[in-house]
Amino acid sequence: MTSLINAFKSYFKNKNPYKLTSVSCNSQFGSFIFDPHGNIFSCMEIVGRKEHSIGNYTQKEIEWSASKNKWFSHNITKSTKCVKCKYALLCGGKCAIKEFNKLNSSNNECNSFPFLLNQAANLSYNKYNQFINTNNYEE
Ligand code: SF4
Repeated sequence: MTSLINAFKSYFKNKNPYKLTSVSCNSQFGSFIFDPHGNIFSCMEIVGRKEHSIGNYTQKEIEWSASKNKWFSHNITKSTKCVKCKYALLCGGKCAIKEFNKLNSSNNECNSFPFLLNQAANLSYNKYNQFINTNNYEE
């Protein structure tokens, strides 16, 4: 919730627009973690689980695995629920590894984003009003 509050604060104070995204985190487009055994992963949570290795760096050239495409093409369009959700580009969808592990695959599961967005917007707006009245933006 802190990142949402900071995003709203940045908007109210400096008029910086909220950044839209189609992914949950950078593991889905540009994170590379090299383990000491030659494997490359894109998510800290699954380092050591070879089935999620996106490549191998032990040879002269990196050998990418099919997992790389799986990770780097995963976005809100891959979820039947997210693709219809009005918050999708604000939220970025569910955590990829939770989806891959089917931990969060129930159609009713969501990452609480709508609730948190509402809370963060109200909290930030109240603080902004305080700022207008006192010229002091309390952290
Ligand atoms: S709020 Fe829920 S349904 Fe909507 S994009 Fe985020 S995870 Fe998907």
